[in-house]
Amino acid sequence: SPDNVNVIKLKRMVYPKSETLKPPRTNVLSVSPWLAPIVWEGNFNIDILNELFRQENVRIGLTVFAIKKYIRFLKTFIETAEKFFMVGYPVNYYIFTDLVGNVTNFNMTVGPRKQLIFLEVPSYERWEDVTMRRMQMIRDFTKQRFASEVDYLVCLDVDMIFQDHVGVEILSDVFGTLHPAFFVKGRDKFTYERRPESQAYIPEDEGDFYYAGGYFGGKVEEVYKLTNHCHHAMLTDKANNIEAIWHDESYLNNYFLYYKKPTKILSPEYLWNERDGTAFYLRKIRFIALHKNMDEVRT
Ligand code: UDP
Ligand code: MN
Repeated sequence: SPDNVNVIKLKRMVYPKSETLKPPRTNVLSVSPWLAPIVWEGNFNIDILNELFRQENVRIGLTVFAIKKYIRFLKTFIETAEKFFMVGYPVNYYIFTDLVGNVTNFNMTVGPRKQLIFLEVPSYERWEDVTMRRMQMIRDFTKQRFASEVDYLVCLDVDMIFQDHVGVEILSDVFGTLHPAFFVKGRDKFTYERRPESQAYIPEDEGDFYYAGGYFGGKVEEVYKLTNHCHHAMLTDKANNIEAIWHDESYLNNYFLYYKKPTKILSPEYLWNERDGTAFYLRKIRFIALHKNMDEVRT
């Protein structure tokens, strides 16, 4: 009937029944107080999720910045993404760089339905500006081209490698990631911006989680709202001569607390850093920070 022309039946699938009284993960939080799922290995069935997302013919854009010396991280980032990121789905890798001439010589090749797209952007002298201005640049390209090319955006740091599955289980209207240094810590240890003068301010008695600046995303429209908001907050602070303590990450945390709580939250499996301690709760480490000499690479 005309009422259900767009209904597609799922294929027959056989899988174990969910047990209401036996949650698959018992030592980690699997849902936030506003009922957003928290994604941990063991609490999702990727076959079911693949069926659901394939029906939607989902197209994914990955944004990553490789400005100045950070260009050195790009090759292994893309190589490992090809092995582990959204395998089987169409992916546009949007690579923001100030060195388009150099990177086109890299001759990296990507698989079918994957595309490398280099976007030339300005570089900033201070590394703090390079990281903060990502919000503005993502926003600008969101309207210009992402909206017509992909359904979801995944916005990542480049100084990282993939080493295990990252798939459609991460996708949702707007998602954030638990920062590996803070997921077992109390609010008092969160490094939110604490100066009330800043647009990123969060007082000591507020806060849900501490989210990482290096891993967020969602539907293109939601990423537009998020990046536009964070960029404007940063500009307001700049006009008042203040810069949030952890730059874009501070504005992101403020946004996720007061403007739009994530509809899905990724566990630190999705953004790990060995520097931040024990991986005891993690069954998988999917995406991990490379060791870098901060002073050398940022100057
Ligand atoms: N970045 C860049 N060039 C720079 C500084 C930063 O391309 O000179 C980008 C890069 O994508 C990097 C991200 O900004 O991953 C965030 O910076 P960084 O990884 O140094 O921050 P951290 O993860 O150490 O907090
Ligand atoms: Mn990083």
